[in-house]
Amino acid sequence: TGKPSLHVFEMLESEVRSYCRSFPTIFTRAKGCTLWDAAGEAYLDFFAGAGALNYGHNNDDIKKKLIEYIQQDGVTHSLDMATAAKESFLEQFQRIILQPRGLSYKIQFPGPTGANSVESALKLARKVTGRSTIIGFTNAFHGMTLGALSVTGNKFKRKGAGVPLHHTVSMPYDGYMSDQVNTIEYMRNYIDDSGSGVSLPAAIIVETIQGEGGINVASIEWLRSLEMLCKEKGILLIVDDVQMGCGRTGTFFSFEAAGIKPDIVCLSKSIGGYGLPMALTLIAPELDIWEPGEHNGTFRGNNLAFVTAAEALKYWKTNQFSDEIFAKGELLKSGLQDMVASYPHLKGQVRGRGLMQGIAFETQGLAEKICERAFSKGLIMETSGTDSEVAKIMPPLIITESELKNGLELLYTSIKEIAA
Ligand code: PMP
Repeated sequence: TGKPSLHVFEMLESEVRSYCRSFPTIFTRAKGCTLWDAAGEAYLDFFAGAGALNYGHNNDDIKKKLIEYIQQDGVTHSLDMATAAKESFLEQFQRIILQPRGLSYKIQFPGPTGANSVESALKLARKVTGRSTIIGFTNAFHGMTLGALSVTGNKFKRKGAGVPLHHTVSMPYDGYMSDQVNTIEYMRNYIDDSGSGVSLPAAIIVETIQGEGGINVASIEWLRSLEMLCKEKGILLIVDDVQMGCGRTGTFFSFEAAGIKPDIVCLSKSIGGYGLPMALTLIAPELDIWEPGEHNGTFRGNNLAFVTAAEALKYWKTNQFSDEIFAKGELLKSGLQDMVASYPHLKGQVRGRGLMQGIAFETQGLAEKICERAFSKGLIMETSGTDSEVAKIMPPLIITESELKNGLELLYTSIKEIAA
């Protein structure tokens, strides 16, 4: 008990990559939307494991299924073998998620992380089309492996690795150039212009809202035009729904709002339901030309994650969960807009959709200061954006209205103190 010793802290800071600079304490317990540290202090979670904890910490129903499974000595690790837990997850994912949405995909387990899903998507797009160029977007984030990193727009992340790899092109995301410039037309011209040096790409990979890149929201029209451009040119459309999927923006898939049907979809983070590593790559059936063993890996079939993931799908059996996310999203947006309006000199801009929202600030360092202050009051928040210019709010989706109001109050006080 008590505050962590300096020794532990120095060790954590020097030996492991950690968030302990932003959140300087040692956490011991977590439930729902709250974490507790060794001194017994409670912290409200507006971070949700970077989107991996949409159903909260230690969700009771999911935990119950996991404990039952372990007590029955259910298979834990099975590489790519067929297991009852895998079959049950697949059956429920088809029945609860894909079929009601009129979506038809083959499901690949590409490895345990979001980056694994992105890698398999990029590889498959190149294999299917026989082309090598991939288009990504300014400020995009797709993961830390070389392929995923090469379509990641954040220069800091790429800097030491010497990427981008050959055959990747970064195009302006919606709104990147100015509200007046249609970046789809810009992209079309670039692709059409044989003198531009861009060979016809295999795929375009996109986030519907750039989470790490600063909560940049692509408009519905832009996403539809992007899909049209892909169809027109025979380019595959990959939606990276690793962070925005599993209900973050209100619908299970973030692209549902635009009514588009990507050729390939990357899912990870909250798909495991309980914070256990798991990823899926959803592949339009006609594109599934993988040969057995062509994209394999030891940790593709985590049966504990299949069990928790299957139980988490129960939230999606009716529209209620979705409606609640939209309602809480509205509450969050109006709370943030009130804060921004109260301190106009901070020039904050509210961005986002559903329970993925934030305030972007013009002044460098302001968002970081606000998050630091919020932490001192018991609120866990992260920044996002290439210059950490956005204070990002991403609570578990199961957050109650009163918890949300509590968090907004803590954030409001933090902003008030910083603004003074
Ligand atoms: N894509 C997106 C959109 C992400 O936000 C992330 C993680 N922040 C990734 C891919 C990579 O996922 P992972 O960290 O599990 O490799």
